[in-house]
Amino acid sequence: MHAGADSARHNRAVSTAAEITRFAPSPTGALHLGHAYAALVAHDLARSSGAGGRYLLRIEDLDTGRCRPEFTAAIKTDLCWLDLNWDGGLWYQSARLAAYRDALGVLEERELLYPCFCTRAEIAAEIGQMAQAPQGPDGPAYPGTCRHLDPVLRARRLAAGAPHALRLDLARSLLVQESPGLDFAETGRGPAGETGLIAVSLAGIGDPVLGRKDVGVSYHLACVVDDAAQGVTLVSRGEDLFAATAIQRLLQSLLGLPVPRYHHHRLIRDATGRRLAKRDRDLTLAALRSAGVTPAEIRSRLALV
Ligand code: GLU
Repeated sequence: MHAGADSARHNRAVSTAAEITRFAPSPTGALHLGHAYAALVAHDLARSSGAGGRYLLRIEDLDTGRCRPEFTAAIKTDLCWLDLNWDGGLWYQSARLAAYRDALGVLEERELLYPCFCTRAEIAAEIGQMAQAPQGPDGPAYPGTCRHLDPVLRARRLAAGAPHALRLDLARSLLVQESPGLDFAETGRGPAGETGLIAVSLAGIGDPVLGRKDVGVSYHLACVVDDAAQGVTLVSRGEDLFAATAIQRLLQSLLGLPVPRYHHHRLIRDATGRRLAKRDRDLTLAALRSAGVTPAEIRSRLALV
């Protein structure tokens, strides 16, 4: 692929073409008003885009320790109550591990991954000793400890079955990826009002984990593999994930995946300006429903009428 080819993959035009969007909740708790907003925005973007528009529901249930089937059942109940009917069946990430392993295999073949044996505590201690640690979308950037590991020691640890994550070697990735400048089309807004064609900045992201120690795959990898496999044309999600788009855009380039457009939206906050979270039990959709709130009132409360 040469310099122009990667950006030519963009579905960049402000098109009137039918959009394929997805709502991708993790079933780790009850949905609240913030999730309802994300689900409604994705739904409305697909449905207002023409007859062939599709709205997909993807269950991001990779974190087996925290995800529960009863939360998936509750997600379905909540979406049906809001009249947000998705197209096709439910897409479970837990059923897609082979596809993610294949993608990791492609990166491994290109020598872009390395095993990281560090524990969270070791990484925190190392970062604590640094004068200034760069910040990425997943927190402070990994200082690169295992990237420099002696190859003999690395091989010995692997042979001994030491638990490890797989990290992307960012510096090497930037050397091998063929388009010098990556960008993506933003039809919504990032946290600082970013919109239009966004130049990707990878400053401060460090070497992101693509294969988690516990479940073997990370959110970023699963997300880009599935967005491509599901044919998503417009990724609609909260602005908290705007920074993650840089990593995901790089992965699309390294894996030769098509590039969707992005629509990041505002987050729903409480009266004090705090972002809604699982702790806000009175704002779960189930609680609002039992209190007699109607789906139409939910829409108007979210200023989506
Ligand atoms: N599963 C993620 C979440 O619940 C959403 C990821 C995405 O939309 O890319 O925040």
